[in-house]
Amino acid sequence: MKENFRKEKQISAKKKRKKKMISIIGSGPVGSYLASLLKDETVIFEEHKEAGKPIQCTGILTNEIHDLIKLDKKVIDNEIDYIRLNAGKEEYKFKLQNKELIVNRHKFDNFLLEKAKENNVKIRYNSEFANFKNNKIILKNGKSYDTNVLVGADGYKSLVAKKTGLWQNREFWKGIQIRAEIKNLDKNVYDVYFDSCPDFFGWVVPENEKIARIGLGSFDNAGYYFNNFIKRFEIKKIISSESGLIPIWKKIKLKKDNVYLVGDAGLQLKNISGGGIIPGMKAAKILANCLNNGKNYEKEIRGLNRELMFSDFIRKKLNKLNIERYEELLRLMKKVDLGKYNRDKPLNNLGMFMKPGLIKFGIKNFLF
Ligand SMILES: Cc1cc2nc3c(=O)[nH]c(=O)nc-3n(C[C@H](O)[C@H](O)[C@H](O)COP(=O)(O)OP(=O)(O)OC[C@H]3O[C@@H](n4cnc5c(N)ncnc54)[C@H](O)[C@@H]3O)c2cc1C
Repeated sequence: MKENFRKEKQISAKKKRKKKMISIIGSGPVGSYLASLLKDETVIFEEHKEAGKPIQCTGILTNEIHDLIKLDKKVIDNEIDYIRLNAGKEEYKFKLQNKELIVNRHKFDNFLLEKAKENNVKIRYNSEFANFKNNKIILKNGKSYDTNVLVGADGYKSLVAKKTGLWQNREFWKGIQIRAEIKNLDKNVYDVYFDSCPDFFGWVVPENEKIARIGLGSFDNAGYYFNNFIKRFEIKKIISSESGLIPIWKKIKLKKDNVYLVGDAGLQLKNISGGGIIPGMKAAKILANCLNNGKNYEKEIRGLNRELMFSDFIRKKLNKLNIERYEELLRLMKKVDLGKYNRDKPLNNLGMFMKPGLIKFGIKNFLF
């Protein structure tokens, strides 16, 4: 009797441990990072012939990356000590408490993919996902594969979301970016321009002493704003163009049956900055924990969602400011040591903004 009970227990434990097949669409940073953390048999399907190309990103990473992974120095193009915020006649340059990294996305994506391969993950290149039916992944070339779990880490255009009913009316900023040699570049500072378009911002991020990634995001007329924006700089030579869409975060359904969305496919970006790598990787870590340990993804993601919701709240308020209000905000911000602000944990640092002028500005411009 006791022996039978022991055997039954062993069989049920084995059943519980029965390995699943997990298929991830997309070898971007989020898909590869997720794959590196999974315990089950995992395959990544990537439409291109290699990971990390074409590049459509500036590659800014905050210090939070070190909590997620130990980076190889080879992927880092530059380390930044200062950020300068610009609006009209005002500017506010502050020193970062922790340097921010500018990575080369091709190298960074391949570094994360190597971590996935070290975890015995298989990668199938030239494998464009086309549909998902009856637990079968169907590729554009007609091949099909059985899977227990499908993860859409397929970026902003997520066909996984479209084909599985998880698209849900999303919106995007259009991000236009060039890599260019420009005059008077300071390798240590990246610039943010709030006066370059109405609903996002422009940026100049140095890759080294000579080359900068100059970009701008906007909901409408991005090309028009970008062309005006780049007139501000003495551009010696345009090297390449790296434009793409930046999903606007909103709370959406991230799971349907055995299908999950993560990263840009799940709109997991900070609406203040358009940064999606860190929140996407954080979400991947949460999803890995859920798939490895049978937890509920939509429940476990709530903490990250709260941070992204707050970032969205601030973005909506900032978009109501005209240039004069932005100038006023920058003047007031000088009372705050913004270098200590952690924009990946925005709700943890709110106390530092409790200065008399800023409270008054907030009540006037942000509350109503
Ligand atoms: C101009 C610009 C600048 C940006 N700058 C920054 C920045 O400085 N810092 C930051 O954190 N974020 C930035 N972002 C956002 C950042 O690029 C994304 O958030 C990030 O790439 C999301 O990673 P991901 O792995 O979710 O998706 P992606 O990096 O988009 O990867 C998706 C992968 O899926 C593959 N794929 C897509 N469809 C299919 C399919 N049907 N079948 C198979 N494979 C498929 C793609 O080829 C790709 O490899 C920027 C975005 C833009 C447009």
